[in-house]
Amino acid sequence: MKDCHVHTNISHDGISSISEYLTYASKIGVDEITFTEHYDDYTDLDTNLKTLNISEYYNTYLLYKNDDILKTNFGIEIGLQPDLVFKTEDMVSRYPFDFIIGSSHITCKKDMAMDKSFFDGYSRKEAYLRYFNEVLQNVMLYNEFDVYGHLDYIVRYGGYASTKIEYDEFKEILDEILVHLIKKGKGIELNTSGNRYGLGTPHPNMDILQRYKELGGKIITLGSDAHKTTDLARNFDDALDILENVGYKEIAVYHKRIPDFVKIETLKK
Ligand SMILES: [Zn+2]
Ligand SMILES: [Zn+2]
Repeated sequence: MKDCHVHTNISHDGISSISEYLTYASKIGVDEITFTEHYDDYTDLDTNLKTLNISEYYNTYLLYKNDDILKTNFGIEIGLQPDLVFKTEDMVSRYPFDFIIGSSHITCKKDMAMDKSFFDGYSRKEAYLRYFNEVLQNVMLYNEFDVYGHLDYIVRYGGYASTKIEYDEFKEILDEILVHLIKKGKGIELNTSGNRYGLGTPHPNMDILQRYKELGGKIITLGSDAHKTTDLARNFDDALDILENVGYKEIAVYHKRIPDFVKIETLKK
């Protein structure tokens, strides 16, 4: 099994160390890990969080890299913000990443996980549309990313009774996002943290995966978004079943920013 979305304690909210992951992975049959530490630019935000020092991250990563024992890839999860495109792309272009996940954590200058005022004064639909409109802007502006992370991330927050985002409810904006991703040769990830957040499904919802495929999308990566060892590759068997039900036969694993395709049947226990 290969996990393409993993945070260590180098990320501000990660718990386990690289070496703890390497030990744990070999115990549970994970043969490849792509580390994807958080890079969110907190400029102009009222927070004590510090933006990742990528040089330190890279140096630590290299200390532990030993593909003879377990294959690891150097990745990053960048928080995309429309006004920071030049700064962020300039920064990421300086490092030899294998894989870049572009995600929306901070939307309209609010960190949705920490600052619930993002939702104040908006209906559920309006808040979700604000989020998706910014996702679309990011997709159009940014080039230096490989897949969009947890595309329906906003469902974790907002506190609405209905957490599911049905494709039909947001089809116009979702189609625009998916079409632009496909045109740019970008993928989406299936992120199993949704199961751990009690959503009953990975991110994104199955009907969004289905629509990406209908529109011609071919690149799906699979990641747990683990912040501690015991979440590594968690819920992957269910996720692979979902992908097969949607009609995918392969998932992508990026090396040097190029997708290599792995047959799903070879990953199933
Ligand atoms: Zn994320
Ligand atoms: Zn993450």
